[in-house]
Amino acid sequence: MEKVDVITIGAGGGAYPGAFELSKAGKKVVMVDTKGVMSGNCLSEGCIPSKTIREIAVMLLRSKRFTSYGIGVNTFADYSKIIEHKDAVQQARYAMHSRELSVFPGLELVKGRAEIQDNHHVLVHTDSDSKEYCADYMIIASGSESSRPSIEGIEYCIDSSDIYSLNPTIRQVPARMTIIGGGYIGLETASMFAALGSKVTLLEFMPRVLSNMDEDFVSGLVSLLDPSIEILTSASVTHIVDDGKVKRTSFIFNGKEREVESDVVLCATGRRPVIPEGADKIGIKRTKMGITVDTSMRTNIDNIYATGDVNGLKPLFHAAVRMSLVAAHNILSGSKTSDYVDLLSIPTTIFTIPGGAVVGVTRNDASGIKLIEGHYRFEGDSRAQIFGETGGEIRLFFDAMTTKLVGGWVVGIDAGNLIGEIAAALSLGAKAIDLANLANQHPMASEGISAAAREIV
Ligand code: ADP
Repeated sequence: MEKVDVITIGAGGGAYPGAFELSKAGKKVVMVDTKGVMSGNCLSEGCIPSKTIREIAVMLLRSKRFTSYGIGVNTFADYSKIIEHKDAVQQARYAMHSRELSVFPGLELVKGRAEIQDNHHVLVHTDSDSKEYCADYMIIASGSESSRPSIEGIEYCIDSSDIYSLNPTIRQVPARMTIIGGGYIGLETASMFAALGSKVTLLEFMPRVLSNMDEDFVSGLVSLLDPSIEILTSASVTHIVDDGKVKRTSFIFNGKEREVESDVVLCATGRRPVIPEGADKIGIKRTKMGITVDTSMRTNIDNIYATGDVNGLKPLFHAAVRMSLVAAHNILSGSKTSDYVDLLSIPTTIFTIPGGAVVGVTRNDASGIKLIEGHYRFEGDSRAQIFGETGGEIRLFFDAMTTKLVGGWVVGIDAGNLIGEIAAALSLGAKAIDLANLANQHPMASEGISAAAREIV
């Protein structure tokens, strides 16, 4: 048995930034991960590979648009080369992470599966044997995994890892793609594969896609997506058949059974938390969404924290990073809580083409708060005009009593970047006048942030 200060279950975004912080403070830390590498699902099959393909798809669409203006640019993309580049980006980041790890002498990464024994003991099963660790503190950062509904023929579907993992099974752009699920993974994949040439049909069970997000935001975003993507909502998939040549997905739509044929069916019906073995045995409280924590990231057991996707609060890599730092700071401050996660200031971006991004409180979830809004439409934005991408807008929401920024969303050009500045302003407690007085750089779309604030002050 080895004694350590802190053990993390998982070595993804919910674990390693905090582990680095603890190691810098002189703690002995062991991270255990079944993958044996840092960065979890984000790098192995999530954000990094999907955004690598996405940015190439964005470039391709821009090239096609410029070509339509009579400017000759290359509009051909070889998908096998796209995969090569995606794999190279992933490999480069794995190499970078292993160099980062070597900087911390008190930090070890063990390849294995962690099983919780009691509040302080974890058994790690490696390929060759099992080893027990005794830790003062535990950080559970075991992430999430794709969850599939029990539909007849679901085994004929791929999931996002078949597209985004290293050396993926999907090696060419399917002529026709059916996507089950209108969450962010389904929509992003629909957008990029439509840009690469697939005819995409997306089936969503709920009456609208992104059903848990602000309605105005979602309708603004959907109106800008490639109209060749057929999005059918309130569509309930009943079964999938594979006859060896094509896959037929049957679904009930408007009370009638319909069928769509495709070469690939992607199941993007959501993710569920990965609960490590032994967590239930020691009484860690959880719901279907994940392990229950407060904003200090502590579970119901004092020395055990749960960060990242596994707590279900905000299953995004950057949220996991912030959560792992909060857990580390609270471990370092002992029984006194010194740091909290402010969930409202963590932005969410949907990387469709164009993208959409949200932070804080928006019109449809502002129960009890009277809001005033500032708008900026990209129609008149110089950068949007340069790219010919003038659809969409920035919307900022302020508390009517205090003029304090409480939230915002962006649909259209540079959404994922713009939301960063809005989130920073929100977390720093900016008022409308603070934003209105910024000299946002010309000719960048961020000019719209101060312009939107100037609408109301
Ligand atoms: P997060 O962003 O929330 O940290 P990730 O999915 O990026 O989530 O990382 C979680 C990591 O935890 C994954 O690499 C996964 O393989 C690993 N993992 C899950 N369960 C266990 C376990 N019982 N023991 C060790 N590693 C685990």
